[in-house]
Amino acid sequence: MTEKPGQELLTVEIARPRPYRWSTGKYLGRLYKEAMENKRLVTNRCPKCKELLWPPQAVCGRCKVEAGEDWVAMSDKGTVIQYTYLVFPLWDPHYGEKLANPHPTATIKLDGGVYMVHFLEEKDPQKLKEGMRVQAVWKEKQEERGRGLGDILYFRTIEE
Ligand SMILES: [Zn+2]
Repeated sequence: MTEKPGQELLTVEIARPRPYRWSTGKYLGRLYKEAMENKRLVTNRCPKCKELLWPPQAVCGRCKVEAGEDWVAMSDKGTVIQYTYLVFPLWDPHYGEKLANPHPTATIKLDGGVYMVHFLEEKDPQKLKEGMRVQAVWKEKQEERGRGLGDILYFRTIEE
């Protein structure tokens, strides 16, 4: 935007908090509820192609049919497909603070067959590897849960 000569721009500062409630809806809401109440991941299945939809969805993107209520409880174990870890500190560009989460980020294929992106507990680059087996570590206190996949702290390496 270019300021024209003689044009004065007004600045309006809004400093009021704006609390709001956001409905997760029927399908995503079920995932949030199961995570919060039972530390369990669920999703629904397409009635036509039988594929698991992830996250739970109202319509199958492939078949364009209503997904419905065929709910499936999924394992919270999976396999690391790829991961990323930081070798330098990351700074929040808005506040200049060092970002708090030091955990590597990974794409994890859950045993049910769906992919999710989440954190890994393991921070030692020598111990990180593709194909490592992991399991979700859930927030213990129910009052701290209610954030869907945010109810999982990270995925811990497991031996099988
Ligand atoms: Zn389908």
